[in-house]
Amino acid sequence: MPSTVVLKARPYYLGLMNKTFVLKIIFILLLAVTAGGQTGFVREYPLYKYYGATGQFQPEIERAVQDARARLITILNDTLRYQPDIHVAHSREDFARLTGTAFPDWGAAAARPFERLIVLKSPAHFNVGKPLAELVKHEYAHLALADRVNGQWVPRWLDEGVAMYVSAEWDWTDNLAMGRAVVFRSILALHDIEKLNTFGEGQAQTAYAQSYLAVKYLLDRYGVGPFNVMLDQFRRRATVDQALTEAIGATYIEFEEEFHTFLIGRYNLLSLFTDTYFLWIFLALVVIVGFVLKTVRRHRYYKKWDEEERYQSTDFDYGDPDQPEQIDDDDKP
Ligand SMILES: [Zn+2]
Repeated sequence: MPSTVVLKARPYYLGLMNKTFVLKIIFILLLAVTAGGQTGFVREYPLYKYYGATGQFQPEIERAVQDARARLITILNDTLRYQPDIHVAHSREDFARLTGTAFPDWGAAAARPFERLIVLKSPAHFNVGKPLAELVKHEYAHLALADRVNGQWVPRWLDEGVAMYVSAEWDWTDNLAMGRAVVFRSILALHDIEKLNTFGEGQAQTAYAQSYLAVKYLLDRYGVGPFNVMLDQFRRRATVDQALTEAIGATYIEFEEEFHTFLIGRYNLLSLFTDTYFLWIFLALVVIVGFVLKTVRRHRYYKKWDEEERYQSTDFDYGDPDQPEQIDDDDKP
C-alpha cells in the first residue's frame, strides 16, 4: 500500500543520525583535537615561521635568530633574505619525522637546508643538554651558509665551524678537548672531519672544536674578505684546493699544515692547565668548602654530645635506674 511506504520512509536527517554516523563524527572531532594539539601554535613572523605545540619558545627563538643574523651578515656578506620554518618537536616521533635523513647536531636539533627547515627538540619534553638559543643559532647558521653558497657542497669543517662560530658555543670543555687532542696527538686532519657522522663522542667533540678553530683561524688570520672569496668559490662548485688557493693562496694540504702548526702552538700541556684555570679554582673551592662543612658538622656533633652528657647524667648507670633519687649505699659499711 502506498500509505505504508510513506510511513516507513524516515526524514533524511533522521536517517543520518544513526549510531555509525554519530561515532564517525566523534572520531573526526577527536582526530581534529589531537592534530590541533600537535601543531597548536603556528605563526608567521618576518624572519621565520614558527611551528610548536605552544608558542612558549617563540620569544627565545626570536632573540636567537636576531642574534645569529647579526653575526652572519658580517661574516657571510649576505642580506639573509629568507624565511625558514622552525619546528619545536614535542615528541621523538615528531622529531624523527621532521628531520628525516638530516643528521641531528647533539641529537637535539637538525637543519634541512634544501627545505629551509629547522627542527628543535622541545626543552619542555627533552633534556637536550644545550640552551635552546645556542641550538637555534647553530642550525640557522647551517641554513644561511647553504643559502650563501647556493646549496653547493662545502667541507664539513667549514659548515660546522661557521655554525659553532655563530652560536658562540666554545667553552672551557672545548679548550680541554683541544688541549687533550694536541697532548695525546689525536688532532684530526680537516678532510677527515667529513666522516664526523661515524665518530664516537670524544672524537666528535674534537672534530667540532677543530672545525670552530679552523673557521676562527681563517677569519682572524685572513679576514672576512678572503673568507668570502672562498665562499664565492664554493658557490661556483670549486674544490677545497681551488677555493683556498683563490682565497689565501694555499692549497688544502698547505692550509692543513699551517692550521696544524697553529694548533700545536696554541694548545699544549701548559695550556691544558691554564685553559682550565677556573676548573682548578673551582675544584680547590669544592675541597675547601667540603673541609669547612665537615669541620662545622664535627664541631656541632661534639657540642651536641656535650649537651646530651650534661642533661643525661651517666651516673645513673651506677645508681638504681628505677629510683634515681636514691643514694647509692655501696660506700656504707
Ligand atoms: Zn651542525
